[in-house]
Amino acid sequence: MGRTLCFLGIVLLAAAVWLILAGATGWVREEVSGSLAKNALVAGLACLGSGLLAGLLDRLSRPLRRGRCARCGGPTERGQTYCLDHLLATVEEYRDKMSAHDRTRGPASGRQVTKA
Ligand SMILES: [Zn+2]
Repeated sequence: MGRTLCFLGIVLLAAAVWLILAGATGWVREEVSGSLAKNALVAGLACLGSGLLAGLLDRLSRPLRRGRCARCGGPTERGQTYCLDHLLATVEEYRDKMSAHDRTRGPASGRQVTKA
């Protein structure tokens, strides 16, 4: 969106410059090229300005949009990957996986059990 507006603004400014040059060299009648060039200049500057503004707003709003759940797209707490429901679900899944893992390995394996 912002990039397209910037491009359009640059094209319009180039057209304005071309019209001014064409008017100066006598390709186009000076009064026609003058009014067209002024319109193109104003429109080009407006497009370029709003394009830059749109790009800036896009960049500023990106961190806010990042606060979305990776699973359902719902809003999350600041810096969280998942919403509260999916955060709890993920913790549950992790806990289940770890307890299943412990069960297959046996209670004492992997740990040093010292008898007093
Ligand atoms: Zn979610």
